[in-house]
Amino acid sequence: MGNFQHKHSLGQNFLKDKSVLTRIIDSVDIKEDDLIIEIGPGQGALTKYLKLFHANLICFEIDTRVKKYLDNFLDDKTDIIYQDFLTIDLNKFLADYKYNKLYVIANLPYYITTPIIEKLSNSNLEFEAMVLMVQNEVANRLSAIPGTKDYGAITVLLKYLYDVQKLFFVSRESFDPMPKVDSAVIKLTPRNDGFVATNFDVFNKLVRDAFKMKRKNLKNNLSSYNLDIINEVLNKYGLSLSDRAEMVCLDCFIEIANVISK
Ligand code: SAM
Repeated sequence: MGNFQHKHSLGQNFLKDKSVLTRIIDSVDIKEDDLIIEIGPGQGALTKYLKLFHANLICFEIDTRVKKYLDNFLDDKTDIIYQDFLTIDLNKFLADYKYNKLYVIANLPYYITTPIIEKLSNSNLEFEAMVLMVQNEVANRLSAIPGTKDYGAITVLLKYLYDVQKLFFVSRESFDPMPKVDSAVIKLTPRNDGFVATNFDVFNKLVRDAFKMKRKNLKNNLSSYNLDIINEVLNKYGLSLSDRAEMVCLDCFIEIANVISK
């Protein structure tokens, strides 16, 4: 837009494809008393569509140069905060807002995708859903199923908290300037059922250890654990210690973690 100098270092690839924007907002059913957090509004391509919900909206943008574009969106239900999202104390910040359901909808700056997702998941805020544009490769990793090459520790740890759905692929041509990689939109919905790890730290460490060496099997990666107990649980799932972690589903990891935390 105009002679704006996009900063590659801030992940400034702005969405220009209206059909992508429509599909993003069609993926959620947001009401006027809900609150949307947008991270990185840029020149407001997505913000413009989010405003259609007439919900409360808070946008966090690090680059003050876009203020002249974003000022148009300000009203009594919209706040734009010029600050690094990663430095915001989100729980404290949101304490001043009244809302029904909480959503995060964002075309993320890719250089900090993981820290942003970690910050949101560690916040303990109750999100109704998060709809996030990420690199296609990251979307595949986060939404992978057991037995596939993309399935890794991050998949399992995120799946513990959320149902992760890859909604749709987005070509690099949908952005200006065009990035070197394609993207995809994912939807994270809190998982309120299923097994719970009695000790999250044990579960977290187990999953990371199990995937430590991608090519090694569970027997090797988990050699410092009580392998007999682990093998018993694995057998229940039709697996054994000679399998690799990528074969192990979330429930099986939780069950192993619960048995070894006893
Ligand atoms: N939402 C816009 C769109 O869809 O066209 C822009 C998306 S662009 C991929 C990412 C945006 O995140 C940029 O505007 C960038 O300045 C902003 N950004 C980068 N780092 C940030 C940070 N740490 N906190 C907040 N915003 C950040």
